[in-house]
Amino acid sequence: MPEKGKISIHAENIMPVIKKWLYSDKDIFVRELVSNGCDAISKFKRLVAVGEAEDGAPYRVDVVADPEKGTLTFSDNGIGMTGEEVKKYIAQVAFSGAEEFLKKYKPEDGESGIIGHFGLGFYSAFMVSRKVEIDTKSYLANEEAVRWTSENGMEYDMEPSQREARGTSITLWLNEEDKEFLQRWALRETLEKHCQFMPVPIFMDVVEPEKGEASEDGKKPEKPEPEQINDTNPLWLKKPSEVTEEEYLEFYHKVFHDFDKPLFWIHLNAEYPFNLKGILYFPKLKNEFTASEGVIKLYNNQVFVADNIKEVIPEFLMLLKGAIDCPDLPLNVSRSFLQNDGYVKKMAAYITRKVADRLVSEFNNKREDYQKYWDDIHPFVKYGCIKDEKFYDRVKNALLFKTTAGEYRTLEEYLNKNCPGEEKTLYYASDDKRQAQMIRLYTEQGREVVLLDTLIDNNFISFLEYKESEQKIKFQRVDAGAEGLTEEAEADQDAQKKLQAMFQKAVGDDKLEVQLKSFKAEDAIGMITVEEQSRRFTEMSRQWGRDLMLPEKRTLVLNQKHPLVQWLEKAEETEQARTMCAQVYDLAEMARQPLVAERMVEFLKRSNALLTQLVGHSAEEQGE
Ligand code: ADP
Ligand code: MG
Repeated sequence: MPEKGKISIHAENIMPVIKKWLYSDKDIFVRELVSNGCDAISKFKRLVAVGEAEDGAPYRVDVVADPEKGTLTFSDNGIGMTGEEVKKYIAQVAFSGAEEFLKKYKPEDGESGIIGHFGLGFYSAFMVSRKVEIDTKSYLANEEAVRWTSENGMEYDMEPSQREARGTSITLWLNEEDKEFLQRWALRETLEKHCQFMPVPIFMDVVEPEKGEASEDGKKPEKPEPEQINDTNPLWLKKPSEVTEEEYLEFYHKVFHDFDKPLFWIHLNAEYPFNLKGILYFPKLKNEFTASEGVIKLYNNQVFVADNIKEVIPEFLMLLKGAIDCPDLPLNVSRSFLQNDGYVKKMAAYITRKVADRLVSEFNNKREDYQKYWDDIHPFVKYGCIKDEKFYDRVKNALLFKTTAGEYRTLEEYLNKNCPGEEKTLYYASDDKRQAQMIRLYTEQGREVVLLDTLIDNNFISFLEYKESEQKIKFQRVDAGAEGLTEEAEADQDAQKKLQAMFQKAVGDDKLEVQLKSFKAEDAIGMITVEEQSRRFTEMSRQWGRDLMLPEKRTLVLNQKHPLVQWLEKAEETEQARTMCAQVYDLAEMARQPLVAERMVEFLKRSNALLTQLVGHSAEEQGE
C-alpha cells in the first residue's frame, strides 16, 4: 500500500516562486531539473573524495523525450535519495538539501560547485506537468529505492520502487500545451540555452516510435546516439595564459553564432574582491548603435542565468559579446533587488575598469593594431565616456581622432602638431566628401582636419569641451567660421556694407551677414559659415526626435583679395552683378551642402546662361 502524505508549504516561502516563475520563462524548469541532477552528481563525487562511496564514473545526466508517451525524463547517477530524504527535501518546499549537505561535506577550498541553494527549483516541474514522478535510489546500499508521484505539487503518493541503479529519474507528464519540449529541436535549444556549460556531461535523446518492420537488408534503421549538449569546462574557467587564440575564436563562434572575427577580447579572472570569471569580446560592429548586436550571458556556477542584465553590465558595454560567471551573485532571487545592491554596483565598476585598462594597454603596447580597431570601437568608447566619467578618466589618453588624411592623433598630439599658440581649436569635418572643399582650405595650410562623422560625435565633443574646459579646447567644424583661414586685416567697412546689401537683395535673404576677409588661399572666393554651437544644438535636437528648427545664423565671408570680389565691390547694381552674387552664393553653399531642388534648378539654369554668354563673347572676339 503506498504511503500517503501532505506537502507542507509556507506562504512566505512559496511567494518568491510564484513571483519568479509565473512571470518568467517557462523553460526554466529544464535548468532546474538538470542542475539538480548535476548537484546530485557533485555531491556523490564529494562522497567519493572523502572515501564514503566508491567511484561511479562515468557520471552523466540524461534528458529523454518520449513524444508518444508525452513524457520528459531527467536521469542522473548521482547521490540519489532515501524515502526519508524525499519526504524531507522534496515535500518541504523551500527547504534545500544543499545547505545541509554542505554543512557536513564542505570542501576545504570552499568551492563546492553545487548550484542549488533555494530549495525551490524542483517545483518548477509543475509549471509544465500534469504529473511528476521521482524514481530514486540512494547511494546507501541498505536503503530501498522509492517512487514518488504527485499530480498537483500539493499531495503525493510514495511507494517502493524496483529501481536498482544509484541515482534519480524525474519523469514529467507534460501538459498538452507544453508538449513542444518533446520535439528534438526545441529540447536542444532549451538545453543549449540553460545548460551549455554545466559541469556534468548532459545528453539528450528522443525516443523514436517503433518502426516495426526491418528494412530489406534485415537491419533496423539506425537510431541516432544520444547527443551531448554541453561543454563541462568552459573556456572562462581556464587560466588566460593557457588559452590559445584559436580557442578564444572557437568559443566566440560557438556561443554567439557570430562568424566575424572579434576585434579583441578580455579574459576576466578575479578571485578578489569578487569571484568573477568571464570573457568579453569586442565584436566588429556592423553599424553604429544597434545595441542589440551585443549579448552578455550571465552564469552562476556555469548555470545560465540571463542575458544582458543591465544592473551587472554597464549599459554601454552591452555592445560587447561575452560570458560572465559569478557564483556569488544572488541572481536566482530577484532582479529588481539587484539595482540597489552595493555588491552588484561594485562588480559593474570592476568590469568597466577592466575594459578601460585593456583599451589603454592596447593603445600603449599595440598602437598600430589599436588604430585599426579604432574605427570600429570608437562609438562605443565615446558612448562609454559620456555615460561614465570614471571610464573617461581612465581611457582619456587613449582616445584617438582620425584625420581626413587617415592619421590617428590623440588630443594632445593634435594640439602639439597643429596649435602652437594659445588657441586650441580642433577643426573637424562631419562628411569628408561633402566638405572636401573646406577641408582642402585647411589642409593646404598644413592644418589637420579630423573626421567626426558618427551620431555620437556631437555629444562627445560637447562632453570633451566641458570636461577639458580648463584647457579651453574647442571643436569647430570646417564651415563654422573663417578665422582659421584668413589673415588679421582691417576690412573696408563701406565695401562690406555695400556687398551685404547687394547679396541680401540678390539671394532674397535680408538677414544674411557679409564679411570681407583676406583669405590665405588666394583662389578662394568665399565661404558660408554657420555658427558652431547653434548648428550642433539643432542637430542634437533632431537626434532626440525634436526638430527645433532654430534659425541658422549664416554669414557669407568673402575674400577681398579675389578679383571677382573686387569687381563686385565696384560694380553698379546691374543684372550682371546680381547674377554674379547669386552664383557666388550658390557656389559657397554647395561647398557645404547640396542645394535644395528649386535652388538647384535655378543654379543650373544660371550656369548654362553664363556658359552661353561666354560662347557669345568668344564668338564676338573671333568675329572681330
Ligand atoms: P535546491 O536545488 O535549491 O536545493 P530543489 O527544489 O531544486 O532546491 O531541490 C530540493 C532538494 O531536493 C535538493 O536540495 C536535493 O536535496 C533534492 N533533490 C532534488 N533533485 C534531486 C536529484 N536529482 N537527486 C538527488 N537529490 C535531489
Ligand atoms: Mg535545485
